[in-house]
Amino acid sequence: MSQSIIRLEEIQKSYFMGSQAIPVLKGISLDIFRNEYVALMGPSGSGKSTLMNILGCLDSPTGGKYILNGKDVSKMADDDLATVRNTEIGFVFQQFNLLPRLSAAENVALPLIYAGVNKKERIERAMEALKKVGLAERSHHKSNELSGGQIQRVAIARALVNNPSLLLADEPTGNLDSKTSVEVMEIFSKIQQAGNTVVLVTHEEDIAAYAHRVVRLRDGLIESDTRRSKQTEAAGSVI
Ligand code: ADP
Ligand code: MG
Repeated sequence: MSQSIIRLEEIQKSYFMGSQAIPVLKGISLDIFRNEYVALMGPSGSGKSTLMNILGCLDSPTGGKYILNGKDVSKMADDDLATVRNTEIGFVFQQFNLLPRLSAAENVALPLIYAGVNKKERIERAMEALKKVGLAERSHHKSNELSGGQIQRVAIARALVNNPSLLLADEPTGNLDSKTSVEVMEIFSKIQQAGNTVVLVTHEEDIAAYAHRVVRLRDGLIESDTRRSKQTEAAGSVI
C-alpha cells in the first residue's frame, strides 16, 4: 500500500519546435506523500514550471508515468484530465490571474461554476475558503481594492474552493515584497497543517525553509532531494 499522492516514473517532456524536439524534463522519478510540504527549486530554465504544469494536469508528459491519487493520469484523455484538475488539484500562479471585474468572493467561486454547483452553495463555499485565508471581510472587494498579498490570498482561496487534496503553487511569492511573502507562506503552512499536500516552486531559500522537503532540479533532472530531519527542526527552533 502506498501513501503517495504523486508518483512520477521517468517523466520526460520535450517541446516541439517544428519537427525538432527540445528535451526539457529528462527522466524525473519522484514520490510525494500525503501531507508533505515540498519546495521545488532550481535555476531559471531548469524545468520547474514544466514539471508543475504536468503535476497540475495542465500539460501531459511526452514520456514516463504520472500516478496521481492512485490513477495513471499520464495517458488520460483531455476531458478526464480536466475533471481531475478541477476536483483534485488547486493551482496558484505567480501572476494572480484574478478577473478584475469580479469581487473576491466571485473570483473564488469561479471553479464551482464550472463544477455545476448552485449559486447558494457557491457563495457559502467561497466564504468558507476566504475565511481559511483570513479574508472573509474582504469578500465584496475587487482586485483594485486589495493589496498584492490580499490578491494572492484570494487566489489561494480560489485554489482551495474545491477542497483539493493537492495544492500546487508556482512562485506564489514572486511578485510580493518580503513582508507580504511571509504572510502568504504562513497561509500555505496553515493549509498544510490542516491536512493538504503542498508543492511550491521558489528560488528563495528563506521561502523554501517553510517546506519540509526540498527537491532541486538542474537541467531537467533531479539534482538533490532533501528532507529536513526532526533533529534539524528542533535545533532550528532553539536557535
Ligand atoms: P523554470 O520554471 O525552471 O524556469 P521552465 O519549465 O519554464 O523552467 O522552462 C524550461 C525550459 O523549457 C526553458 O528552456 C524554456 O525556454 C523551455 N520552455 C518552457 N515552456 C516552453 C514552451 N511552451 N515551448 C517551448 N519551450 C518551452
Ligand atoms: Mg518557472
